[in-house]
Amino acid sequence: MMSAAPRHAHDAHRDPYTAESVADPIADRTARPDRRRVLGGALATAGLALLGPALAGCTDDGTAAAGAGGGARTPTGRAPRSTPPAHGRPSPTEAWARLAAGNRLWVAGRPQHPHQSTERRWEVSAEQHPFATVVSCIDSRVPPEAVFDQGIGDLFVIRTGGESLDDLVIGSVEYGPVQDDVPLIVVLGHQRCGAVRAAIDAIDNGRSLPGHLDRVADALRPAVADAHRRGGDLTDQTVRAHVSRTVAVLERDPALTDRVRRGRLGLVGAYYELDTGRVSVLETSGVRV
Ligand SMILES: [Zn+2]
Repeated sequence: MMSAAPRHAHDAHRDPYTAESVADPIADRTARPDRRRVLGGALATAGLALLGPALAGCTDDGTAAAGAGGGARTPTGRAPRSTPPAHGRPSPTEAWARLAAGNRLWVAGRPQHPHQSTERRWEVSAEQHPFATVVSCIDSRVPPEAVFDQGIGDLFVIRTGGESLDDLVIGSVEYGPVQDDVPLIVVLGHQRCGAVRAAIDAIDNGRSLPGHLDRVADALRPAVADAHRRGGDLTDQTVRAHVSRTVAVLERDPALTDRVRRGRLGLVGAYYELDTGRVSVLETSGVRV
């Protein structure tokens, strides 16, 4: 089934790329009253504001939040050093410059592997202040911390097949900017993407993919259509079109768009070349590169 039709209309979500309805996989497995109780109770009542300190272990005033593991102290009992407070954040352009510099080291074969020591683990154990959010593919050859030469506590990373979005993924992307004032979101597509190739094969040949893989193909369908119109290498053009569409979805996201307009958040759409390790900018919003 390649159709994006919802399995239960009352549990439908909106596909961010097509505005069509798609079924909720959680609701599919849960009776409606239970779903209302579970999701309504856990998410609507608690809200992201309460999820923030619990998940990130950080507060705006720099006070260490007590995590489930009591991680406010290092194993030696010393209070961990504090990372710079939120008001010391880089601008979107500065944040991109850091990532670009890291990528240059990666390309040159001279990665520094920063922030991967035991001391760094202690330093960020009680609070974190990543300076960028990266939305990338699940591909094993494209780990964002490696290709941008960053370490623990530097990046929020969201990885899905073909760096595709749905409501749940968008919520995770929103988390950094909304809860922790992260100044930059990077959407990173890549060369020879297997998810894109599988989607093209399924869409163009009218074949279904097993399990939930159809969801990935459905998310990529508009970009595949773009690529057919553009011509050239179909996989590569689909990757580039999909990065652009994904940036556009995030740029107009209600939780993010005002931050972009006020210069507090920038977006970069980029392409990673497996052969060289180089990240190339495809487009930007609120960032000078
Ligand atoms: Zn991929």
